[in-house]
Amino acid sequence: MGKITHPGRERIRDSNNRKILHLLRERRQLSKQEIASETGISIPTVTNNVSRLIDEGIVEEAGLSESTGGRKPMSIRYLPDSRYAFGVDFASNHLTASNKIRVALTNLDASIKAEEFFDYQDFHSVDEIMTHIRDVTDRIVLAARIPVEHVLGIGISLPGTVNEKKKILEVAPNLSPGLGMHDLDFRAYEKLFAFPLFVENEANAAAFAELVLGIAQDKRNLVYLSVNRGIGAGIVVRGHIYKGNMKRAGQVGHITVDSKGILCTCGMNDCWELYAASGALIRNYNMASTRRITDTQGFLERLRSPDPLAVKIWERYLDYLAIGISNLLLCYDPHYVVIGGEISQFDELLLEPLKKRIFARNKFYKGDDLEILISSLKDNAAVLGAGLLPFQELLYGNNKII
Ligand SMILES: [Zn+2]
Repeated sequence: MGKITHPGRERIRDSNNRKILHLLRERRQLSKQEIASETGISIPTVTNNVSRLIDEGIVEEAGLSESTGGRKPMSIRYLPDSRYAFGVDFASNHLTASNKIRVALTNLDASIKAEEFFDYQDFHSVDEIMTHIRDVTDRIVLAARIPVEHVLGIGISLPGTVNEKKKILEVAPNLSPGLGMHDLDFRAYEKLFAFPLFVENEANAAAFAELVLGIAQDKRNLVYLSVNRGIGAGIVVRGHIYKGNMKRAGQVGHITVDSKGILCTCGMNDCWELYAASGALIRNYNMASTRRITDTQGFLERLRSPDPLAVKIWERYLDYLAIGISNLLLCYDPHYVVIGGEISQFDELLLEPLKKRIFARNKFYKGDDLEILISSLKDNAAVLGAGLLPFQELLYGNNKII
């Protein structure tokens, strides 16, 4: 194993280095000659870059490869477990619909190698939560027996507006009330960790994961819609996450869609997420029934049973979801809309009836003008996207967020 470059002293990586890394990541094992011919980079430049990657322990020499005569070339093998990152989802709905915090260790392939969940309710402040996350990451690093300098960082996905440069969570109306999630400066928590800390809005993190790993890999312009207890959008323009002037683009859950006068957590009335977030299904069902449900899974079971009340609520819900998506089509004219978050578990019950509503009586868009898709990463999108943030410089350059 070669010597390790400490993340803080990471040398500048050029596009050739990343191109070679991406090719090896995809093909796993190639000779320098194959790398040169597939990338169009000269053999001496490939040799320099491969030597550097060997030094860093990201690839290794893997013996002589098969050859059709002449000297056999040395094969270079990609090592996905040479670097790690932690992804944290502050409002995970994975496995359970109650909001939990999820901490996952991922490798260079964005495979989850270890993970832990814990409840908000067990903690009284963000300080306590962050200290607990530190303890969890320490425990995971120890159990996985990885050198801590191989961890490039911890990325945190937050349901609210996030300034990723200043590391501030600005407004998060849906995050566990009472925790004071407002203008929260995550730089204060950097000292807890032996590696760099990154933050990003949940829908943006999830959109990033879909863009790099999921259903949106070749899709350049899309709106990723995260439908959980709230609704947020990650807007992808030509392969970049568009965050806007104040880094608040995509707060689409707070677009006004009705005039009933229902008060939203943000202080305004009749926001889209009051009608079309997954919480609306639970709330509406419990208001009309003596049978209580506590989570989205419970609603899905009622819908499948089929319970006529659940069916009626679902139909109305789809109307509102379609209204909001139609508005987004008018704003962004995307190639794709990817629907993720908790609601993606409704799969076939969701997609066709939703499309029917979006394109019925729509003078601007026909069904084949764009694709509406269900997220392929489902509930993993946000935590994987968070875990990709520390890998940005290594794998993508710092140009994925604009
Ligand atoms: Zn609102």
